[in-house]
Amino acid sequence: MLESNASLKFSNGKKTYGCQGIPNRLFCLKLCENKQLFLDFLKEAGLIYSELLCEKCSVPMILTPKNSLNDGFSWICKNKRDKTVCGTTKTIRYDSWFSCSKLKMEEIFLLTYEFVIGTDTSDIEKEYSFSSATLSNWRMLVNKIIFDYMEKTSQKIGGVGKSVEIKMSKWGNKICDRDSEQWVFGGSERDSRKLVFVAVPDRTEETLSDTIKEWIEPGTSVSGCMNTYGSIGQESCEYLTINHGISFTFSKGNINSILSSWRHLKSSLPSYNRSIDIKYYLSMYLFQKSCKENGIDVFVHFLEIIRGIEWKKKQLNQTL
Ligand SMILES: [Zn+2]
Repeated sequence: MLESNASLKFSNGKKTYGCQGIPNRLFCLKLCENKQLFLDFLKEAGLIYSELLCEKCSVPMILTPKNSLNDGFSWICKNKRDKTVCGTTKTIRYDSWFSCSKLKMEEIFLLTYEFVIGTDTSDIEKEYSFSSATLSNWRMLVNKIIFDYMEKTSQKIGGVGKSVEIKMSKWGNKICDRDSEQWVFGGSERDSRKLVFVAVPDRTEETLSDTIKEWIEPGTSVSGCMNTYGSIGQESCEYLTINHGISFTFSKGNINSILSSWRHLKSSLPSYNRSIDIKYYLSMYLFQKSCKENGIDVFVHFLEIIRGIEWKKKQLNQTL
């Protein structure tokens, strides 16, 4: 959309505004400079309505310039009924991601971009001067959207003829906040490197057995270390083998795949908030990883998710 008018070019033909269909930060900033172009983009991407029917008259409303509004435009019904104009209005944010907040639509767009690509909150604060309350509320909203999406779309790993390595690990900032410590169950499918990471309340036999049933397909060969065996216990292993066809091998050196996944997960924990609710962090990590593996841009994927939500039915219990 911007490419044809772009005056800034990088050397050797590098894409200044991202690749085709994949907006980068420069694209987002440039887009936000021009209200008409910005709204055209949002309409084309299905993020706001490109046409809207009046609820009273069932005729198309007209998108009308309105300088008194930050949004610049408003939907107005100009249908004549009994010699008077209907005059019903609707904001252009109606039933969209942008209806969540009083911030300018451009601000919401940029904030969304930064959160979804994983920019640290402190860097966003420096760059755009948003208040810390605004940033933390928005990050929480983005986190919740991704958590709900991952919960709906995540699938079990393993299956007949497949091997899965499992390991429990304690997560949290031991120095600052003991209460934030949290057990996390990790599983890695050996050949595909498909992952599950699930926040669990403890490492009791019951929790582990339930988590394995929930996340690992029947017929899987499961490997773990002796500590994990100590937590699951012989009885649960036998139960899972008989009733779910899951076989177990516990030894010292056969869980390299899950150990390397754990290292990667922990090293990518952002510095902005080490006591963040771990379930949100895990879902964001798995979301970004699955986008990368499937060659999908995270921001584009997030826009597709929010486009599919019926915002008028969603009750948001916070002011953003
Ligand atoms: Zn009307």
